Amino acid sequence: MDFRPTPETTEFLNREHGLLIAGEWTRARGGGAIESVNPATEQVIAHCAAGGPDDIDQAVAAARRAFEHGPWPEMSPTARGRLLWQLADAIEAGGELLTELEILDNGMPRDPAATQAVPGAAKMLRYYAGWTNKITGRTIPADPRPGQDTAPLTYTVREPVGVAGQIIPWNYPLGMAAMKLGPALAAGCTVVLKPDEHTPLSALYLGELIRKVGFPPGVVNIVPGTGETAGASLATHAGVDKVAFTGSTETGRTIVHAAAGNLKRVSLELGGKSPFIVLPDADLAEVAATAARLGFFLQGQNCQCPSRVYIHEAVYEQVVDDIVAAARALPVGPGWEPATRVGPLISAGQLGRVENYIASGLADGAELLTGGTREDRVGYFLSPTVFAQTTGDMRIVREEIFGPVICVQPFSGTELDGIAQLANDTNYGLVASVWTRDLSVAHELAGRIKAGVVGINHHGGGDICAPFGGYKESGWNREFGAEGLEPYLETKTVVIRYR
Ligand code: NAD
Repeated sequence: MDFRPTPETTEFLNREHGLLIAGEWTRARGGGAIESVNPATEQVIAHCAAGGPDDIDQAVAAARRAFEHGPWPEMSPTARGRLLWQLADAIEAGGELLTELEILDNGMPRDPAATQAVPGAAKMLRYYAGWTNKITGRTIPADPRPGQDTAPLTYTVREPVGVAGQIIPWNYPLGMAAMKLGPALAAGCTVVLKPDEHTPLSALYLGELIRKVGFPPGVVNIVPGTGETAGASLATHAGVDKVAFTGSTETGRTIVHAAAGNLKRVSLELGGKSPFIVLPDADLAEVAATAARLGFFLQGQNCQCPSRVYIHEAVYEQVVDDIVAAARALPVGPGWEPATRVGPLISAGQLGRVENYIASGLADGAELLTGGTREDRVGYFLSPTVFAQTTGDMRIVREEIFGPVICVQPFSGTELDGIAQLANDTNYGLVASVWTRDLSVAHELAGRIKAGVVGINHHGGGDICAPFGGYKESGWNREFGAEGLEPYLETKTVVIRYR
């Protein structure tokens, strides 16, 4: 590796990483281990314990104790908020180390690791820190019961749902951990967080910070491990009240079945196949630059990726040429090189999966305009890839590739139902965007497109105070904003007859 991390990062990488259970770093009871591989060098960079069912049992028991007893349930909402705020401060103070961990463990380019992932995690925790003392119930104007003169005082309180099992993917590790922890802790839940087996490092450092700022033991437990072992144990565990999952739609279905035993609450942030619709009056230069930038953001390993680009035939040739030129201009390389905008894919397995999709596109008759091949270097690098001549029945158009591949397709006419039909021709419904200067067309299409977020001259989620999540097979519930608290809260109605 021709990159030298800071001494602090090097020291962290060289540690023997355990599991954070009940406030202590422990070994995996079954001796499970994970090797963290730098996807830009294919070299092992750290060794971590991998939790199994016994470890999940211990972590759930610790989270239960911390939920029922001790300082956490007695802590004032403001004090809980202060801890979240202090964790955000600690993330910022450790920003360079966390940035380097995301670069090395995930392959993320420095921009966005330093500019979005780390500050975004701090911002998320601060946002939910502000919510701790604003979670309120309602007073209900109930009628008197039959035979009674006065109505009982009737009100609701919102209570934390209990122990939350949180399972996150590898594509945006620190950000995912913060998205999960912020609302759960603000609501007063305790947590067992399972980071993805490919990217445990930033969550483990977060565990260090959680100890340092003084969260009571057991409030946050962190157990990296594989999906089939640690993840499945958490999803089925009878001691878990709620499971929050971000990952593929396929695994989401497995989680739903696994959660049925004790009917735990389930929230799901799943895959996407997001349409990006370009009308002839759009700002064409911005459209092409944005489609390429967001299409290859995180190497396309991004649930919001505008992977289906529909361009009106009147401007098709120009926009496609510009997208291809913008894709070719994106510097591909290791995340630590400052110019890099497209890093390596997460693993050899993911690279192979994406290469299979490219082969299927070619076999189905799609035209490869650029990319499609592995870069000639060590590491799991794949050139930004653009397919044309695609049709709605091709696998590359129907399935989430989760790699640097976008499909462009012309459409004719400006009939709004037809355009909405193109956008909605998918099992997913996470994000969509429409590019036009005509406000009434934009407004009409925003109403007809079935997606959790519809952008007009914008693609992707809004700020963290706006809800984010999917229609159809893109998920259940919403994250971010006030809505993000809901999956972590129960509603209790209190009825008081006072005379
Ligand atoms: P994945 O479903 O394979 O894994 C996600 C997590 O689930 C990992 O921690 C994994 O260990 C765990 N897991 C795997 N099998 C499990 C099982 N049987 N039981 C319990 N846990 C299990 O997904 P991935 O490939 O790591 O991530 C990519 C997917 O995540 C894509 O589909 C992407 O769209 C989705 N994603 C969605 C959002 C969103 O907000 N909607 C954000 C990022 C990623």
